[in-house]
Amino acid sequence: MKADYDVVVIGGGAAGLSAALYAVRAKLKTVVLERFACGGQILNTAEIENYPGFPEGILGPDLSSLLEKQVTRFGAEVVLDEVEGIQIEGDIRVVKALENTYRTKTIIIASGGEHNKLGVPGEEEFAGRGVSYCATCDGNFFADQDVVVVGGGDAAIDEGLYLSRITKKVTVVHRRDQLRASKILQERAFSNPKMDFKWSHTVEEVRGNGQVDRVLLKNLRTGERTEFGTYGVFIYIGFHPNSAFLRDVVPLDNGGHVQANIRMETSIPGVYACGDVRQYSDRQLATAVGDGVTAALSAYNYITE
Ligand code: NAP
Repeated sequence: MKADYDVVVIGGGAAGLSAALYAVRAKLKTVVLERFACGGQILNTAEIENYPGFPEGILGPDLSSLLEKQVTRFGAEVVLDEVEGIQIEGDIRVVKALENTYRTKTIIIASGGEHNKLGVPGEEEFAGRGVSYCATCDGNFFADQDVVVVGGGDAAIDEGLYLSRITKKVTVVHRRDQLRASKILQERAFSNPKMDFKWSHTVEEVRGNGQVDRVLLKNLRTGERTEFGTYGVFIYIGFHPNSAFLRDVVPLDNGGHVQANIRMETSIPGVYACGDVRQYSDRQLATAVGDGVTAALSAYNYITE
């Protein structure tokens, strides 16, 4: 069996497009498989202020289309197709997708992931207008304002601590009366004068008028519902990588992230992982770009050595 491609990149987000850019510029025949539209999480991000080189910020959809233009300019194919599984057949890696099957020398997995959603009214409506899943990205929009963080794990407390440096006050809304986060983060949060806690509460609705201005909270002990004023709702109730299609082929950790080393190599030769789907990813745009570049360079070395 012959390979149709040198590199198949699974996922057209920042990591995948960066990998494709470096692969195609190294004269590797490259295709990016994307199930919806290129851009990944940045496609749903209104304004990006923390990506180096854009002092005035850049709109997520604009950056997405620039990245796509850049990779196609150098000859990478971008195909809308949803990957269902991969197989290893000797030196050939086979990517099975809904529309087609792609035979390739290497695979770069850049399928990203999604933040778990609360699934309450107003969450979707106010996404990017007060509701956020990324404090590092959006915290600065809430300078000296009151914000709410939902969740009690490491991410909620870590990001809550980050927000406490920027905002006026951070209220953590947690469904139980104790945190799941590591003790050291808990100690920092409890001793932080700008952090407050609403124990045994859930957010039942996000409300506002164009922008978030309050949430409807439910006290799980008493059943009482109250409105709570806030301008930002940062939701940290877990994250799930898009990796179900890799099960039984590529080693995943307990959270479903692909295990890869510092060269983005998985334990399967010629198969790489980069961006948010990778274990220990910092889940930032800039780090996803760096991951993608490293994955492409590793693929290049594998093919040429
Ligand atoms: P996590 O540890 O699974 O915590 C999720 C939190 O959300 C839990 O407190 C959970 O409540 C709550 N939750 C889940 N579903 C909910 C719902 N529907 N409504 C309200 N609350 C809900 O997830 P994570 O914090 O994203 O962390 C993921 C992994 O990354 C962990 O392994 C973590 O250690 C790691 N991480 C580490 C750091 C760090 O070390 N600095 C930072 C970020 C992430 P319950 O507690 O009641 O289940």
